[in-house]
Amino acid sequence: MTCLELFEFLSEYVDGRLSEAEAATFQRHLDQCPDCIAFLNTFRACPKLVKAAVSEESCPVPPDVVTAILAARSGQVS
Ligand SMILES: [Zn+2]
Repeated sequence: MTCLELFEFLSEYVDGRLSEAEAATFQRHLDQCPDCIAFLNTFRACPKLVKAAVSEESCPVPPDVVTAILAARSGQVS
């Protein structure tokens, strides 16, 4: 699973709508990707921000948007 693929499952994961196998794959990526953990935390803390960026299912978030969101978040955390 890539970060981009993880994004496509993000809403389902947060809502608990993933199958067991999908959730396990999702979790495996999180285990090795601190960026996605940070992004998931951002999503939970501020879903509006992320949903605005991921509003269209047919339009996955481009990596530079991810970077921007993560950068915005890291700027807020001491
Ligand atoms: Zn990732």
